[in-house]
Amino acid sequence: MSARPRRPARSAGFAPAPRRLPGAERAHACADADRPVWLLDLDNTLHDALPAIMPRINRAMTGYVMRRVGLDEAAASALRVDYWRRYGATLLGLLRHHAVDPHEFLRDTHPFPDLHRLVRRDVRLAHLLRRLPGRKIVVTNAPGAYARGVLTALGVAPLLDGTIAIEDMTFAGRWRPKPSRPMMRRLLARLRLPAARCVLVEDTVENLRAARHCGVRTVWVSGIAWRARPAWQRPRRGQRGIDVHVRTVVQLARTPLARRLHGHSRRSE
Ligand SMILES: [Mg+2]
Repeated sequence: MSARPRRPARSAGFAPAPRRLPGAERAHACADADRPVWLLDLDNTLHDALPAIMPRINRAMTGYVMRRVGLDEAAASALRVDYWRRYGATLLGLLRHHAVDPHEFLRDTHPFPDLHRLVRRDVRLAHLLRRLPGRKIVVTNAPGAYARGVLTALGVAPLLDGTIAIEDMTFAGRWRPKPSRPMMRRLLARLRLPAARCVLVEDTVENLRAARHCGVRTVWVSGIAWRARPAWQRPRRGQRGIDVHVRTVVQLARTPLARRLHGHSRRSE
């Protein structure tokens, strides 16, 4: 076990706020350090959410759509998937067409009092996070309470420098989760980070493409997401917007990109 003192994962304070949050202060303080910044997706990147977590979220979302929109189960499930495909998140479709309360939606669709039993913990993840040079910030379209619960269950919360959840991805009165390019640009500006210093690690190719368009380097974690998609929907290696491809996130430290950034980080210390 590491002797490193425990500290809670922090919000990086992306949403407009009357004052800087602790995570944002920390990010600003380190912004001048010439070190890489890893922007890490959560579900199906840092852990496998497919077996136990995603089915429950999907059922809860379908139930929410049934209650709020007044559809039967089959129609509600189809609408949930349709909004996810059209807007990148079911929530965005519900906001646009049904004016739901987003906080109620997030609360009702992430019912996880038993999260610690559902999360698949892999000790290699903590080892990876200790080895990776630079800062590590989780950037997830999931709600903050759920994200913090998963990171605690994974045992990696003390190894991270912040968490940007979907509630933090709002500005100009709109919710703009990944793959929003304006959100990514605003996130980088808020943290005062040059895009070239950042690396997004993700399972969702659309999110990687958007980040690459903003100048962020990208790592595609394909192994878990592939199982969730039919063969014809699976992205191929070498696609535009993907700099590095790994099957699981624990392979990240062995990539030439990580080695190069590690060497660069050590030289600049
Ligand atoms: Mg994901």
